[in-house]
This record gives sequence, C-alpha cells and structure tokens, in this order.
Amino acid sequence: MNKYVYILCLISFCQLNAQGDFDYKRFTKAMCAPGFHGRGYVGGGDSIAAAYIARSYAQMGIAPISDNYFQSFSFSVNTFPDSCDVFFSGQKLIPGQDYVATAASSGTCTKSPCNPTFFYSKFVSGEEFLEIITKGDISWFDLKENDILIVKNLNYSLDKSRNISYLISQYAQFKPIIELVNKKFTWSVSPIAHGSTHLQIQSSSLLNQTNGQEISINIHNQFIKNHKARNVIGIIEARKKAKATIMLTAHYDHLGRLGSETFFPGGNDNASGVAMMLSVAEKFKNKPLRNINLMVVAFAGEEIGLLGSKHLSEHPVIPLDKIKFQLNMDIMGSGEKGITAVNGRIFKKEFKKLQKLNKKMAAVLTVKARGKAANSDHHHFTEKGVPGFFIYTMGNNQNYHDVYDTYEALSFSSFEGLSSLFEKFIRKL
Ligand SMILES: [Zn+2]
Repeated sequence: MNKYVYILCLISFCQLNAQGDFDYKRFTKAMCAPGFHGRGYVGGGDSIAAAYIARSYAQMGIAPISDNYFQSFSFSVNTFPDSCDVFFSGQKLIPGQDYVATAASSGTCTKSPCNPTFFYSKFVSGEEFLEIITKGDISWFDLKENDILIVKNLNYSLDKSRNISYLISQYAQFKPIIELVNKKFTWSVSPIAHGSTHLQIQSSSLLNQTNGQEISINIHNQFIKNHKARNVIGIIEARKKAKATIMLTAHYDHLGRLGSETFFPGGNDNASGVAMMLSVAEKFKNKPLRNINLMVVAFAGEEIGLLGSKHLSEHPVIPLDKIKFQLNMDIMGSGEKGITAVNGRIFKKEFKKLQKLNKKMAAVLTVKARGKAANSDHHHFTEKGVPGFFIYTMGNNQNYHDVYDTYEALSFSSFEGLSSLFEKFIRKL
C-alpha cells in the first residue's frame, strides 16, 4: 500500500484495508482440523471450537454481549471416546466407512481399557425380521449363545426400510444387533443411549455373509449426563442509538468422534456457515448499521436437537420483540444450484427483497422459498414470533453427516457473492 492510499485508508477508518481481512477458507479449514475433534463431545471438541470462534470475534473487533462471549447451558450426550474396533471374520472394518455404531448405541464396554467381545453372525432378511418382531416372540430367531442378529435392510421401499430400522433400534434397547445397509451412512448425535450395541454395516464391506462367522466388537461408549456447552455471542453496535437488533446466526457444533481413529469434520455442516456469518459480520464491523445493532451468534448443540438456539430463545440476552430479523446460515459450502430460504413462504416481503437483490447481484442461479421447517436454529425463534430465514446452499456436495463432509470437498462456489448478497439484504431490511 503506498503512502497516499494509506492516508486515504486512515481517513476512511481503514475500510479498504480491513475489508476482506477475514480468511474464510482458512477459518473453515481450521474448524475441520482433527484437533477440533469434529466439534463434538470427545476431546473437548466443541469447547475448542467455541474458544476459536470467540478469538475470531475479538480479532475482528466484535464486542462480547456481556462481560464475555459465552452463554452456557448443559445437556446429556452419548459419546464414543476411544476404542472402536470391529472385525468380521478376521477382517478389520473401518469406522465411518464400513460401519458406524449408531448415535444411541451402547458399546460392548463402558470402562476403558476394553477387551473385545466375540459374537457369531446370524443373518436374517428385513422381511423375516419384521415378521418375527411383529409376532413378538424373538425365540423364532433361534439365536445360540453369543449369536448376534444381522438384519439385511437392503432394497426395500423407503417406508419399509425405515420401519425395519426403527424396530432394529427398539431391539437394540435389549440385545446387540447389526443392520446391514447399502446406502450412505448419515450419522447423528444422541442425548440418550440404548441398552445394547447397535451397528450399521455396509453390505459391500462384508465379503462372506454366512452364519457362524466370528465378529469381534470392542466399542467403548461414555454417556455424559451434564455436558456443558456454550453459545458464542457478540455484538456490533449501531452507529447511532439503536432501535432494534438483527441477528446473524450459525451453529458451530457437529457430530464429534466415533472412536479415536474417526471424526466427522462437518465442513459444509456447519464450519462453512460460521465462516459465512463471520464474513458477513466483518462487513458490518467495517460499516455498522445506522440504528440497528447486529448480534452475531454461533450456536452450540444444534445437531443434538437445536439445543443452543432453544436455550437462547428461552433465555434471551435481548428481548425477542426487539429482534427485527434473524438470518440463520447452515450449509454454506456450495451453491452451484442456488440457495433455499426456509420461511421464505412465510415472510414474503423479505423474500421478494432477497430475490430481487440476487437478480441484481447475480450471487446464485436461484433463490428458492420453503415454508416453515424445524430443521435448524431459526426454528425456536420463528415459533416465538421472531421473523427470519434459514438459508442453505444447494449444489454438487452431497456429503452430509458423514466422514466425507470435509473442508477439501467444499467448492465455496458462491461464497463471496452470497456474503455480499446477505450484507445488502440486511442493509435493506
Ligand atoms: Zn447443520
């Protein structure tokens, strides 16, 4: 920067210099790093992410909402902290790729270090399983001691397959069970734990699908009764006396770890959304709104049931009737096929504004509207009368709640355009 530009920059509060300082790719990559443990409940992952986000707020000059950035709350969660080994007929299966312990599964042991438990395979079709379970007499499975039921939930209609899955999870309350699947894993995180072990295995990962094969399972689960999580809340004050607040939100938690080898990076969901939130916030830090404060909230506990946003909606740091609008961003890493605004059909005036702006700015191909949906952190605020959108990108990236949702898989195809679109939209509200 030459001297003349530097002086100009000082006069204009260094906007030229400050704009674009936030490196959204670097931020997203850091959030997906192994040291963040999938921003869940093993290795302090969510807490590490919260501290990193608070540091990013501070670096950007976003003020804490009170004497610090954090709003704490707690919940119970089932975790898989270390041992997670499964061998089928001597062949090692890879967690996240070949198999998952379902989120509510118990392990084969609850205290580390664990020793493997040995089972023998007993395959049944989904049909047979349904029939016997519906009759209510599981002796029909004819299980010998140490046999484990492996239900082939393959190639059924969506409804039937869901029904089989549901009944398998009921069975897992009492006895260990394996569900064989041939669709991608969609993992989650659970506030409860079943009484027994419940695995899903990819059918293609088991070469020898015959009865009597030895299965060794060594999975340790730890049920945490009172996990303390933190929403990270900052504020960018209006230039003049504020009449209202606009809320920018994105959840930072993800699914965490499945044993010491495997973690779920949550690149698209939702490292990308927090990055988008900060990218938009930076623009307002450089040029705040005249009469409206901007509250910036990174929510914890979304994946376990929208718990962070529920907590803030029930313990608001500013009165909810002073919130003019909420823009919630979840899954911001693609955009080749446009974006969708949940609540777009409810808040029609605002939706038209967003569409019109996009037409002018050509940020993405399409802006679609949906009705209400309880699928992200806007929900509890919408239900309490706060207008808002939940926006997600649509594109080629189909990795969702699996180990493939990595930083490297993100295209960021519309990121910068969307960041500018959201800025303009907020300025026009
Ligand atoms: Zn999400």
